[in-house]
Amino acid sequence: MTKTKKRDHLNLLCDIGDLATLLTASSNIENFLQRTTVMVSLHLEADVCSIYLFDDQTRELVLKATIGLNPEAVNSVRMKLGEGLVGCTLIKQQPIREGSASRNPQFKYFEETGEDRFESFLSVPISRGIENIGVLVVQHEKRDYFDEMDVMALRAAASQLASAIENARLLMSMNNPHNPVLNTTALEQLKFIRGESAGSGYASAPSTIFGKSHGWLLSEDSDCDAGYTLKHFYRAIQLTTDQLQELQSRVAERLPESAALIFTAHFMILKDERFIQEILRHIEKGAPPPEAVRMVARHYITLFSSSPYMYLREKVNDMEDLAGRILANFQLRDVDAPLQCKGRIVIARELYPSDILKLASEEVAGIILVSGGVTSHVAILARSMHIPMIIADRPELLAIPEGTAVLMDAASLSLGGNIYVNPSEKVIHQFESRNQVKAATSLLADAMTPTTETRDGQRIHLLANINLLSELALARDLKAEGIGLYRSEFPFLIRNNFPSEQEQYPIYKRLFEEMPDKIITIRTLDVGGDKILAYSDAAGESNPELGLRSIRFSLRNPDIFEQQIKAILRAGAGVKNIRIMFPMISSVDEFQTARGLVKECGDDLQRQGLSHHRAPEVGIMIELPSVMEIMDELAVEADFFSIGTNDFVQYMLAVDRTNEKVAEYYQPWHPSVLRSLAKIVGAVVQQNKEISICGEMAHEPEYIPFFLGIGIRNLSADPQFLPLVQQTIQRLNLTDATEYTRMLLSESTLKGTRKIMDRYLATA
Ligand code: PEP
Ligand code: MG
Repeated sequence: MTKTKKRDHLNLLCDIGDLATLLTASSNIENFLQRTTVMVSLHLEADVCSIYLFDDQTRELVLKATIGLNPEAVNSVRMKLGEGLVGCTLIKQQPIREGSASRNPQFKYFEETGEDRFESFLSVPISRGIENIGVLVVQHEKRDYFDEMDVMALRAAASQLASAIENARLLMSMNNPHNPVLNTTALEQLKFIRGESAGSGYASAPSTIFGKSHGWLLSEDSDCDAGYTLKHFYRAIQLTTDQLQELQSRVAERLPESAALIFTAHFMILKDERFIQEILRHIEKGAPPPEAVRMVARHYITLFSSSPYMYLREKVNDMEDLAGRILANFQLRDVDAPLQCKGRIVIARELYPSDILKLASEEVAGIILVSGGVTSHVAILARSMHIPMIIADRPELLAIPEGTAVLMDAASLSLGGNIYVNPSEKVIHQFESRNQVKAATSLLADAMTPTTETRDGQRIHLLANINLLSELALARDLKAEGIGLYRSEFPFLIRNNFPSEQEQYPIYKRLFEEMPDKIITIRTLDVGGDKILAYSDAAGESNPELGLRSIRFSLRNPDIFEQQIKAILRAGAGVKNIRIMFPMISSVDEFQTARGLVKECGDDLQRQGLSHHRAPEVGIMIELPSVMEIMDELAVEADFFSIGTNDFVQYMLAVDRTNEKVAEYYQPWHPSVLRSLAKIVGAVVQQNKEISICGEMAHEPEYIPFFLGIGIRNLSADPQFLPLVQQTIQRLNLTDATEYTRMLLSESTLKGTRKIMDRYLATA
């Protein structure tokens, strides 16, 4: 055997790893498989590379992509398990290396492939566990061309490809309505799925698969391109611009802090001279205009998807959306036509922000996405539109039969989302009773009084936690006495880079304007942990919960921190009372440094003669157990305090709040948690300073009397919980609450505290 060049096996593996990433970011599976064959053939210097996939329904191997064989054979060459060398590879789960394939009696020649001239044959099975996925084959004209090293490299490549190809296979079947891939056993295994919750409650409804948005037009054949001219191209660009402007103004109504940002990439590409010029160049060379758009868009997509930066890879979606729209506009196809999904739970591989707007106007019951992250544009849009959304990395969901009953619970952002496929009666019942609570909430909303007191007249202040400006309206309707926690990171999460002072200013301004004369507490940037910015380095941390997060991030990046503080101070000019709160303060020193920077920002604005708020109250969010022993001193330092129990419990008990494997250890009733909270509140009350609770515990009925008993007079909760919190307080008597608290604090076991709470709940 002679080889002219040492083949590049390591590079092959690296490139295949990248291809798997590309698949996740691309909607074109055929293209993915095709590119895989090109890459493998290049690296192994093979004349042919082909991928056969196993079809569960027909139990045949089907040629799905090839380089070197006749492309027309794709989808037409099929063989049974055990048939031909390819079929034997899968059934034996062994590679087959043949130096002269035509002499092997098992070699099966398909005329349409034109493979008779390829003597060397090497195939490896693609499988995951016991599951047959397909076969990867390389061929060469020369005899005895492939060696042992090639076998090893191809095997390793097949194993890397297995999961990506499995996803591809499912998605391909999904596009064929007559070929549902999930049998009953597979469906059975899909009964319960955990994903990430993007928030906004729960839904129970028949499901529908949202297969293709207009992005698929990018992979359409060019057969129907004939007849389009330059005039049609300019018309398509104009229509696209108009549609995007219309969509942008629709977002502005719902999501003012990010309206301008969601379609920024689209507009930037549309305005980019090079984009238009490149298309025109292809047209000049004779390409039909739609094909020219496809070529340029694919080029951009390849560039974006191979970027090491997540925010650039996310642009693949924007490019697909934009190019798909342009292509649809050639044909005057209405991309924004209704999707007929009213009342359904929509399951999709990916959605463009414009799809979310359509789904919202059709009143879908919920959305399950099988790719992406809770911080993506679509997740944030869904949240602001109050559409329950869960993101679960389970592409097999795309193969469940149309109309399958699904129940999704996306109520808790921090605890993740649950999906039940064909839920049992018991689950539905649980859901319905929660739904009744929800219905009761809206009835209670009408009965809300502007102030809240216990039965024996103790005044308690109820404030709202909000993530988006769009939630201010609900907070106002539910008579919140102010904002106890504005999570300022959402405008940061929705972007591709850090927003400047100028960009943040109008957001805070609106916050102050929409709730005049009320307490507004802005928490400074709390990124890291469960709130990762795609464009920040923190994305690569191995233990982000303990990493460079929250105030640590701000102090490490004073430029970013100062831009935020200055924007708040400037927006607060003329406002009576503004509050700046630092998350995750761990020491007196850290607080003093952060407060010092606020002072410097004020001095800077003063020097520049810019109007701003001169004396904001500066507070601490208590979330770390490290403050326990220095609480007396901290209490002297800050103007106000708020306990973030979500993180406090996480760090006190060393339980990741987002990890379902340890969810049972997340026990806020732990005596150490309860006693620590009492100690913290005691230290602050001693200094006559204000302290609130703003974690999820603030709305739980068994904790409310405990909080009152330890001296809490301010509770801040998501707006929808305020009516129930108010009603709970109105039924309480401070004397009883104090006795309940005394009992809890004297218990040293988890069992003991839980029993007291359960007994209380049973009689409350
Ligand atoms: C908390 O930790 O309790 C809190 C309110 O902050 P977040 O949930 O945003 O971390
Ligand atoms: Mg927190």
